[in-house]
Amino acid sequence: MSDGERIAPAQLGLGDMDPEEFRSAAHRVADRVADYLGELERYRVLPDLEPGEIRALLPQAPPQSPEPLDDILDDYARIIEPNVTQWQHPGFMAYFTSMACGPGILGEWLAASLNSNVMFWKNAPASTELEERVVEWLRAMLGLPDAFDGMFTDTASVSSLLAIVAARHAVPGLEATDRGLGGRAGVARLRLYCSTEAHFSIEKAAVVSGIGRSGVRRVEVDEDYRMRPDRLTAAVAEDRAEGWLPFCVVGTLGTTSSTSIDPAAALAAICEREGLWLHLDAAYGGTAALVPEMRSLLAGWERADSIVVNPHKWMWTPFDASLLLFRRPEVFREVFSLVPEYVRASATDAAHNYNEYGIQMGRRFRALKIWMMIRYFGAEGMARRVREHVRLAGRFAAWIDEDPDWERLAPVPLSTICFRYRPRSLAGRSHEADVARLLDTWNQAILEAVNASGQIYLSGTRLRDRYAIRVALGNLRTEMTHLERCWELLRAASQALDSRA
Ligand SMILES: *Cc1c(COP(=O)(O)O)cnc(C)c1O
Repeated sequence: MSDGERIAPAQLGLGDMDPEEFRSAAHRVADRVADYLGELERYRVLPDLEPGEIRALLPQAPPQSPEPLDDILDDYARIIEPNVTQWQHPGFMAYFTSMACGPGILGEWLAASLNSNVMFWKNAPASTELEERVVEWLRAMLGLPDAFDGMFTDTASVSSLLAIVAARHAVPGLEATDRGLGGRAGVARLRLYCSTEAHFSIEKAAVVSGIGRSGVRRVEVDEDYRMRPDRLTAAVAEDRAEGWLPFCVVGTLGTTSSTSIDPAAALAAICEREGLWLHLDAAYGGTAALVPEMRSLLAGWERADSIVVNPHKWMWTPFDASLLLFRRPEVFREVFSLVPEYVRASATDAAHNYNEYGIQMGRRFRALKIWMMIRYFGAEGMARRVREHVRLAGRFAAWIDEDPDWERLAPVPLSTICFRYRPRSLAGRSHEADVARLLDTWNQAILEAVNASGQIYLSGTRLRDRYAIRVALGNLRTEMTHLERCWELLRAASQALDSRA
């Protein structure tokens, strides 16, 4: 067949793909995806690539005339699919899990076909009301009170930014929303508090919202990497005495490095006493609350002014979906509801006009994929899966603890383990600094060796200036066998070091 024959008639006209052609192509894409998900493990989780290799396979200039769909799909299968880092792979244990479950992928596909832009009710009635319902469902599934309203955003970074801007707006007499912060005599510098372990998105939010990086005060953590409430209290008092204007505390429930959980109840008590906005970044850790017996880890989080939990992390939702919950929706509306006439004409108070609560006017229809996922698994089914990940993490932690040549570097409250290789043979060595450097080098080498296997992908972090390897669980496809494989690879890499030493 010549290329000319493989070009569909619709490609030569003025309109879109023909529905029947779409149907047959869609069946092929469905088969491709099912094969991909079924045979993920034939791919390296971390592809072996140098920067620029993929660009070199892609033509420099765009095609001027139509190309056969077969060729496009073939190139996808040949160039793209094998050469992404496989976030869906059961051996992906780096960072935090961010996998897309089957019902979520289907929901994403349906949402793409509707292309419903959830800016305000009139333009998106069913999608707006489904978002309202799904936010209520998740709130209930997390055990949080009805007092929280909320919405979906793209990422935790943006959810936290919106919360911090709302917190800034809520400072009495500041009028930052209307008057800005610069060039105003008699206005104190705003101060925001988070722990030394908080995610860098909080600092970015401070940059964007005019607080500035120096307006962020990092509060010390305890031996388990949790924010110390006594240090927070002292910092607020010290800042007030020096003329700062404290306005917001950001606690982290499940820090990125060690998954430590700041004491939410103690932070809430301080914020209530000091008149500060409490925002809780539970992007990863909040999902633990799907399991009723784990909620005590987060006790007190229900007293926050705002909370972020990412369904696109440990809740298996295709990227992106971040849940932002807040107690005072009116504060968000006061900041973000700059509604022009053509939008106001269709506004109604009986339903959310979601563009009035955040930066974006146009918004993706994220609720559909989450609704499909919750219905497919059921709330109990989701809790069962989270519980299993915590169980697997406990098993892995026990292997580390039982092996005298390895040591755990942080508690494991959730599904992530931080540890390092530290052979017994080093015990008697004097020069502490040399040993510390040696351990860092060895553990980095172990991590690289495991990642080079293509079967398992791990990340590293620094905890108290010690290099730590991280195993983060939460992928629905990860089973005990993958965990065993990971442990085997780690030990084999450490033995290879020993034989070189
Ligand atoms: C992953 C993570 C973030 C950033 O999440 P995005 O959705 O990628 O912006 C922020 N905070 C914590 C604690 C995280 O784990």
